[in-house]
Amino acid sequence: TTFADLGLDQRLLGNLAAENYSAPTPVQAQTIPALLDGRDVLGVAQTGTGKTAAFSLPLLHRLAANRQRPARGGARALVLAPTRELAVQINEACRTYGRSLGQRTAVVVGGVPKGKQVRALSRGVDILIATPGRLMDLMNDRSVQLNQVTTLVLDEADRMLDMGFIHDVRKIAGMLPDGRQSMLFSATMPREIEKLANELLNQPVRVEV
Ligand code: AMP
Repeated sequence: TTFADLGLDQRLLGNLAAENYSAPTPVQAQTIPALLDGRDVLGVAQTGTGKTAAFSLPLLHRLAANRQRPARGGARALVLAPTRELAVQINEACRTYGRSLGQRTAVVVGGVPKGKQVRALSRGVDILIATPGRLMDLMNDRSVQLNQVTTLVLDEADRMLDMGFIHDVRKIAGMLPDGRQSMLFSATMPREIEKLANELLNQPVRVEV
């Protein structure tokens, strides 16, 4: 399989070629077509398998194809990650893969002042990448609006569980509109994560690598 076979936007294909990605990894080959089809995905995959591109390429493709504008303080897609470092990495990946697609992104993480994050969000963003604690904080401040979110990504769900974020994750997911596309990635599948996946995903395609 090639990335072109998967049906991705030409601009994404150009960006992948510029990054010297010659072919999709196994998790990408299985996940990308399902996500482009609008399916939910449960991905059991470790870091290093290419899981970031597996969810961000179809996310960028679908956001670019639907030209709806984000509202002020709003976001069209929400990516939850356990740590600041992972959130920043996901943002960098989205910016690299999505170069010239015109999709706005913002990162919301704890441990730094809120002001800059609130300003970055104020015009609205296409992709919001957040750690659960700081996102809850900004939701309580009414600095962020999640009623426009059409895609939810939970990355490294097992680490979010280990770090005690599962309660916040459930609360945040409960604020999102119905009918959205959701995906959950986790290196391991403890019972609590299976349960969360059952609650949040609608007839998911299960991908294990
Ligand atoms: P991840 O598992 O998302 O953390 O990705 C691991 C590393 O693999 C990152 O440095 C990516 O840039 C790289 N990568 C992801 N997909 C591909 C691909 N199809 N071809 C070459 N490198 C890739």
